Amino acid sequence: MRSLQSDVEQRGTRIFELVDKHPERLFSKAGFYQRLMALSMHDERFKTQLFRFVAVLPSLRRSSEIIQHLEEYFSGSNDGFSPLVGVGVRVARLVPWISAPVLRWNVSEMARQFIAGRNPHEVIATLRKRRAQKIGFTVDVLGEAVVSEAEADEYAALYGDLLEKLAQETKDWTDPLGKNAELFPVVNLSVKISALYSQMSPAAPADAIAHLSTKLRPLLRRARELGAFINFDMESYALKNTTLELFKTILTEAEFKAWPHAGIVIQAYLRDSEGDLCDLIEWGRGRGTPFAVRLVKGAYWDYETTKSGQNGSNPPVFLQKPESDANFEKLTRMLFENNSVVTPAFGSHNVRSIAHAQAVADELGIDRSRFEFQLLYGMAGAIKRALVEMGYRVREYCPIGELLPGMAYLVRRLLENTSNEGFLRAKFAENVPARELLRDPKELIKSAVAGIGDSRGHGGSNQRNGASLHATDSDSFRNAPLVSFIYKDSQDKMQSALREARKRFGEKHPLYIGGEKIWTDNLTPSVNPAEPTEIVGYGTEAGVDEAERAVKAARAAFEKWRWTPFEERAQLLERVADILERRRYELSAVEVFEVGKAWSEADGDIREAIDFCTFYAQQMRRLGRPKLTQQVPGEESYHHYWPRGVAFVIAPWNFPIAILCGMAAAGVVTGNAVIMKPSEQSIVCGAILMQVFEEAGIPPGVLNFLSGHGSVIGAHLVDHKDVDLIAFTGSREVGLKIWESAGITRLGQRELKRVICEMGGKNAMIVDADADLDETIMYSIYSAFGFQGQKCSALSRLILLEENYDRVMERLISAAASLRIGNPEQPGIMVGPVIDEPAYRRILEYIEIGKKEATLAYQAKEVPPHGYFIPPTIFTDVKPNMRIAREEIFGPVLSVLKVRDLDEALEVANGTDYALTGGFFSRSPDNIERIKARLEAGNVYINRSCTGAIVGRHPFGGFKMSGSGTKAGGEDYLLNFLVPRVVIENTSRHGFAPGQSLEYRDEFLWPKPRQ
Ligand SMILES: Cc1cc2nc3c(=O)[nH]c(=O)nc-3n(C[C@H](O)[C@H](O)[C@H](O)COP(=O)(O)OP(=O)(O)OC[C@H]3O[C@@H](n4cnc5c(N)ncnc54)[C@H](O)[C@@H]3O)c2cc1C
Repeated sequence: MRSLQSDVEQRGTRIFELVDKHPERLFSKAGFYQRLMALSMHDERFKTQLFRFVAVLPSLRRSSEIIQHLEEYFSGSNDGFSPLVGVGVRVARLVPWISAPVLRWNVSEMARQFIAGRNPHEVIATLRKRRAQKIGFTVDVLGEAVVSEAEADEYAALYGDLLEKLAQETKDWTDPLGKNAELFPVVNLSVKISALYSQMSPAAPADAIAHLSTKLRPLLRRARELGAFINFDMESYALKNTTLELFKTILTEAEFKAWPHAGIVIQAYLRDSEGDLCDLIEWGRGRGTPFAVRLVKGAYWDYETTKSGQNGSNPPVFLQKPESDANFEKLTRMLFENNSVVTPAFGSHNVRSIAHAQAVADELGIDRSRFEFQLLYGMAGAIKRALVEMGYRVREYCPIGELLPGMAYLVRRLLENTSNEGFLRAKFAENVPARELLRDPKELIKSAVAGIGDSRGHGGSNQRNGASLHATDSDSFRNAPLVSFIYKDSQDKMQSALREARKRFGEKHPLYIGGEKIWTDNLTPSVNPAEPTEIVGYGTEAGVDEAERAVKAARAAFEKWRWTPFEERAQLLERVADILERRRYELSAVEVFEVGKAWSEADGDIREAIDFCTFYAQQMRRLGRPKLTQQVPGEESYHHYWPRGVAFVIAPWNFPIAILCGMAAAGVVTGNAVIMKPSEQSIVCGAILMQVFEEAGIPPGVLNFLSGHGSVIGAHLVDHKDVDLIAFTGSREVGLKIWESAGITRLGQRELKRVICEMGGKNAMIVDADADLDETIMYSIYSAFGFQGQKCSALSRLILLEENYDRVMERLISAAASLRIGNPEQPGIMVGPVIDEPAYRRILEYIEIGKKEATLAYQAKEVPPHGYFIPPTIFTDVKPNMRIAREEIFGPVLSVLKVRDLDEALEVANGTDYALTGGFFSRSPDNIERIKARLEAGNVYINRSCTGAIVGRHPFGGFKMSGSGTKAGGEDYLLNFLVPRVVIENTSRHGFAPGQSLEYRDEFLWPKPRQ
């Protein structure tokens, strides 16, 4: 009996023979893009520039813009293309009306290679040609990830229309194989769920399923009537579980339970895929009606690895290409073995994967008419032809649509075709021998593992393609990953934490002074802003007496704590981080109730607190050891730091654990004793943070917890002679008072008070004429309305260039109108309540001011009746001098300003008292450079949201009236809590000098700590 491998080789060789009968290049069309692709494959930088240029081109309207971008992207590089660009640009400047259209035409042609038609009419013409070649079709509407429900409705209508037209056209078409045709309807439509619902949140699959089912039912019903097939495509990992759940839910409904013509995609590059497929098969058996699975490797490998790299989480995909290949083969077998319940389709251009599927089918006695091969339009034409010739069923995946919405698809195809590890490139561009291409991937996994070690750090091919991700050195800081609410387990944990937090409503929390729990007669309630009748908990109110006690306790503790080795202090913070991690869901749940944060926002806050602890611990280790200033004979001069004394930490409610924890942790780890005061609106969060430090073993008095009125204890402590440092984050009004008051030296005061003062912002984002509007809208909406606009980093002024204004506004308003507003206790809510009644009234007043000053362009009509809900509001015709453009509102209110050009945009953006965050959406490298250099903001964000700073990666803080220039989560932050000191010793005796001094020495600690 022949082994499977030799059968695969034989079949693969046969395919190659047939392929070679009609030699074809990687790109079926020669010319301009053939050359570009060849260059891309050999020059990574050029590839990046090319893909970026291709992505921006369809949105450029004027010839001059095209020429300008061409020059910005390509001139000055060393890629062999730039001389051509140079000539091109010179010619183009002379005759832009010819050159730009020619360029646009070339890129359109490049795209058209992968797009089967711009409209149903064009696509049908393509399908007819394929029919003559015995190739079937599945049609997909280009464009994904809609930003509003209006756009989602348009897509649903497009799918419906397409279905009708395809059914009409193919009435008389028959199955090319004429056997088992009932399993493979002629009309086959591929649907992407992200195009059908704009408010999808991984945390809220039930909400997504409810919305998507409403949109999909009519389509499925009609498909059933017309005898058509609907396939659920698979997109990024974040949507995978929802897509699977939706598929199973809707197809178990009575009306679809017996309908066999629906399918779903399984991506073999996912580690989860085997489990998912088993689960689907089991579900299919229970349902009792066959369904289809298209097995692919997966089109989002680069996206998934980039995203998880940013989040510090494990990528959901395999990191070695042969692992994906081997898994594809494993799942191929599983599909065939369950052929009675699942009809397989294999979506691959890889001859090894295809030949393997053929061989396994044969081994298991499965007739070739019971499965099909699916390949993409515009790719691997020779393989399609070969498969047809061999008597297999072949279907082509045909995208339909315009270039602009198709850009994401086009870039995925270009990436796939130029990937170092892709089969098509290996076969058609690099002529790798057939024997190599047909090797068993399982064997390659082993050799690839060995290869990873070799290539690391040397730019080996694995590494270039991201196959081996760098392991970070053990002593370097790593951010804690965010909780992924994609998983049911995380959703369940959060639900259960919310239930538990509810049970503890009304709990009373003491002050904590000198290691003792202290109660007073006054308790302050902290209410749920989404339901103000609910009291989340009570804080004990401290008065001046307790404040005095806290200062004494801190002062006493400081004298010992300051001499504690920094390693002990760093380890304390690491224990705090561990406890925060352990109690993560519990703390997030409390934030949801106490300050109205959405789940992911609350989790982000806890993550930030954890990061502050681990980051500052690491930074303290860096700063703690005295460092030799210079190497000179006979003298040792060591520079090091001492703590300042007693630090008073005053935190806001909007990041109720992160900011409080960050400032307190910085104080404690640097050897100061700290008194922390949470905001009056987030006492419970503060009290729980104190418990965490206590559990971590903070010595008595080193951290003291005082809740109470800022005007009483806050003012008292700011003025106190024994307070050496004030770390404040909050409003400008209070911040400036603290700044002023701290400048006065009181009788008996030891130190000049150091003030860390982080205040508000009036943050602007500028939208360039060539900006990617999908991203612009998505990020602007999130930056302006996420957590109800109550982040000091939130977007409050959107500055639009005249040229773009109408296009942006139309989409912005419909995106705002689609937002989910509600009680954040429910998953997937984007806009919850504002913090309390005074804030609610103040924001409403600003809205009234806005109505007088400017034009109310949008305001949500419905918000929950109870709670402090403010409808998301957008004003247009806003001028820079208006109050709504100058004053911080701290709520879901966005002002839109129209400007002529980038000069004016910068002038407007910089024309405020504040300089906290700012942003820019653009695809012009020159304009991006200009904004990077000129925008007045402590944190400048390009082509992303202007909120969500990450500790260590985006040190956060502003200047002008936004703050004193300190950067929380940055390398120099701890220096604010320290005084520098230098110790110089003459080490020579009678002219004899010892050898070289150590670069670092142990701390100057006395008495020396016992070992
Ligand atoms: C008809 C059809 C429909 C499709 N529908 C979908 C869909 O709904 N959803 C979807 O996501 N994709 C879909 N795809 C796209 C498909 O995922 C890619 O075209 C496919 O992955 C390319 O695989 P291949 O077997 O043709 O080529 P190969 O060259 O053998 O494989 C390339 C693939 O290997 C994987 N890979 C690359 N580098 C690595 C690495 N370092 N480690 C691990 N794995 C790696 C990636 O998935 C990459 O795409 C579809 C493809 C076809 C043909």
